[in-house]
Amino acid sequence: MLTFKELGVSPDLLRGIEELGFQTPTPIQEEIIPLFFDCENDIVGLAQTGTGKTAAFGLPIIDQCDTSITTVQSLILSPTRELCIQIAKDLENYGKHVKGLRVTPIYGGASIDNQIRDLKRGTQIIVATPGRMLDMIKRKRANITEIHTVVLDEADEMLNMGFRDELDAILEQTPKGKRTLLFSATMPSEVARIANTYMHDPVRISVGKENSGADNVKHLYYQVHAKDRYPALKRIADINPDIYGLVFCRTRAETKDTADKLIKDGYNADALHGDLSQSQRDHVMKRFRERTLQMLVATDVAARGLDVREISHVINYNLPDDIEDYIHRSGRTGRADKHGISISIVNFRERSRIPQLEKILGKKIEKQNVPNGSEICGKQLFNMIDKMEHVNVDEKQIAPFMETVMKKLEWLDKEEIIKRFVSLEFNRFLEYYKNAPDLNKIDKRDSGDPRDRGGRDRGGRERGGRERGDRDRGRDNGRERDNGRRERNRSDDRQGGFTKLFINVGRVDGVNPPRLIGMINDNARDRDITIGSIKIEEKHTIFQVGDQYAEKVISALSKTHFKGREVKVDFSGEEPGKKSKKKKAKKK
Ligand code: ADP
Ligand code: MG
Repeated sequence: MLTFKELGVSPDLLRGIEELGFQTPTPIQEEIIPLFFDCENDIVGLAQTGTGKTAAFGLPIIDQCDTSITTVQSLILSPTRELCIQIAKDLENYGKHVKGLRVTPIYGGASIDNQIRDLKRGTQIIVATPGRMLDMIKRKRANITEIHTVVLDEADEMLNMGFRDELDAILEQTPKGKRTLLFSATMPSEVARIANTYMHDPVRISVGKENSGADNVKHLYYQVHAKDRYPALKRIADINPDIYGLVFCRTRAETKDTADKLIKDGYNADALHGDLSQSQRDHVMKRFRERTLQMLVATDVAARGLDVREISHVINYNLPDDIEDYIHRSGRTGRADKHGISISIVNFRERSRIPQLEKILGKKIEKQNVPNGSEICGKQLFNMIDKMEHVNVDEKQIAPFMETVMKKLEWLDKEEIIKRFVSLEFNRFLEYYKNAPDLNKIDKRDSGDPRDRGGRDRGGRERGGRERGDRDRGRDNGRERDNGRRERNRSDDRQGGFTKLFINVGRVDGVNPPRLIGMINDNARDRDITIGSIKIEEKHTIFQVGDQYAEKVISALSKTHFKGREVKVDFSGEEPGKKSKKKKAKKK
């Protein structure tokens, strides 16, 4: 693998990118940078989003700049204002140690007078949106007759947004001898057409599979009734307490509505869409980048090309009409070697489009079950406990209060104190999820599709367990009992994969699902243990764990103490562990 230095990047730039933490070039950079230096050809660069295209063209462009003069030498066109600002900022960062370098962003929706002033001061690189750029040219405020490089970034999106005429008019003003670079994640026919019209014999560089999503993104979908989209979204957020996500909606109205609901329900969320004024959009983006916002609900256009670091989840509130949009959406996560998850919430109709999407992605989109109430409560609880364990204690500041606090809490034993502190935060979730229904839409028609069988076995097995977890909560208040029993019969034949265990503590001991999950996770020191249904009786509890974890859980919990009593755990007499093991073997 070559270094940036070996690719020919100059020392000043090396310093800049080093400070940004770039150690080795990404594959597209490795291809484009030497090509740019070694030949004069036009270049078409196709690569998945998040692969580092900005530096691939940005570094050589800066390197070729004559910074002793302030005539415009390069023009970079990008579809949106946000992207334009971002590219300009990226370039400035790369060139932080390049003396005299000037990069000027030109975009609509902001004062044109200020931008005219910026241009008057002189610049070598303009990063612009097509509309405002053309305006500047017409007003004779920008002179691009001497540029040597034009970059069309996210070319497909510029065309989608109807900038065809502007592109024509702008490119007409550029000198014949210039070099054109076109970048895009995908190559629909319109982009091919623009390449044919404006470029001479371009070298085509494509890295990775075209039209596919980033490799380090995992794709999942949840199938629910359309009316349950919002509750499903909430559960996704709740089961991922540290989510830093982008939620995509199809329309501005839906974006607004979803964000409003999230805000009302107490999430750190906001909306990004075309109805906002520019300063509102800036404000939202700033808060999202600073992570004050955990979830940004956005339309496709508003979020296009945005590079926000370390987005953990992209959530498709529904599938986009255009499959290309799905690729762009999921490309917002899994950037620069980080792992990401793209989740789609789909109804039955949308479900039928999944195979087509998988084909284009070249990747499986796994069906997952919407987490149930007890899973979420457990997850939230541990997240909170984790935070508590790692909290920074300011000994000095807290010392003067400690004595009084300790005195006040004297009458409570350790366990009671912990319980109360935990409940302080946790009651909200317990309350909300108390009788939470199963949102998974069970899709009978699925079973006819042999392609699905492998996944369904796994999903179904999990589903069996989880449904029962939910149902047992329902049973506690009696209402769903009948329904529960019916479902149980139906799902019994999918129970393989879970082993039922008995534990000698129950309701009288104060056991509830989060507590039990807590005991299991803490003692087994493994948070991956899959836990199925939990049936809490007066003096004992029957619960399910994934087959492979049964022995581990038994030995981890046995001989521990709960409320002063020695805990006994064993295979439940109702259904020996052996049985489910046999089932599993048969399935393989
Ligand atoms: P693209 O335009 O291909 O979608 P970007 O140019 O926006 O991707 O880059 C995606 C992210 O990767 C950015 O956060 C960028 O800072 C980071 N990045 C780019 N090149 C490197 C590199 N060589 N090493 C580490 N991070 C990089
Ligand atoms: Mg880009």
